[in-house]
Amino acid sequence: MALALGGRARRLVSATSVHQNGCLHKLQQTGSDRFQLGEAKAIRLLPRRTNMVQELGIREDFMQPNREIETSYDFLGEMRQRFLRFKRQKYLPEIEKFQALAIAQSPKVMVIGCADSRVCPSYVLGFQPGEAFTIRNVANLVTPVENGPTETNSALEFAITTLLVENIIVMGHSNCGGIAALMSHQNHQEQHSSLVERWVMNGKAAKLRTQLASSHLSFDEQCRNCEKESIKDSVMNLITYPWIRDRVKRGEVKIHGCYYNLSDCSLEKWRLSSDKDNNGFHISDREIWS
Ligand SMILES: [Zn+2]
Repeated sequence: MALALGGRARRLVSATSVHQNGCLHKLQQTGSDRFQLGEAKAIRLLPRRTNMVQELGIREDFMQPNREIETSYDFLGEMRQRFLRFKRQKYLPEIEKFQALAIAQSPKVMVIGCADSRVCPSYVLGFQPGEAFTIRNVANLVTPVENGPTETNSALEFAITTLLVENIIVMGHSNCGGIAALMSHQNHQEQHSSLVERWVMNGKAAKLRTQLASSHLSFDEQCRNCEKESIKDSVMNLITYPWIRDRVKRGEVKIHGCYYNLSDCSLEKWRLSSDKDNNGFHISDREIWS
């Protein structure tokens, strides 16, 4: 509830430096009866934030928690509402952080996820803006260096050699349509294949290994197995890139694979370990988060 400024509140405001706080000055010009006691205290404690809000030209009423939001039933209207809600509830309360991110990024993690709409890595793993450099493709595949440039390995190169991320996560998931396409694709039809089919054939080794090991299982069960085998292949393909391999061996970069099961909301995780004895690498430290 908005309060007119009483005696104590006026003293609180007057104790705040109007010269250091342009927002207060503006409020005095426009009338203080709309001003809330809690806001006066917040502005007093966070003069820098308030100045930044004003420098960006944000209207004073934008921060009002009870500010009316226009209702809209179309999807773009909903997007607009979500964006404005993000701005009011996330961006502006942490404006120093977002203004720093406007200048530079320094993520600690590179994530390679599937394009599937249900498995947004930032949503599932709770990454905040600036924390995870992310690229998503159909079936979260990483191709080996000898296959040439892709969007995924170009993003990897930038993340590793310029941003100096310390962790790479390949994140796969259950019921992956890309892996289902890989498993159902008839190899001899390659020249008539769709773009998706040709792309997912990059996971052919995982498919063949799965079929060999689990031909007695149903197609769906084979897909679940192939989803995990494909993550392991992508993890191993990462170290075909010399600028990743060298950093992993020096302990500067860690590589992780993880498998998000949408059905029971569990996450299986493992990592790539350097095998010092034979100059190789192996999968280790399997964990299940549930
Ligand atoms: Zn997928």
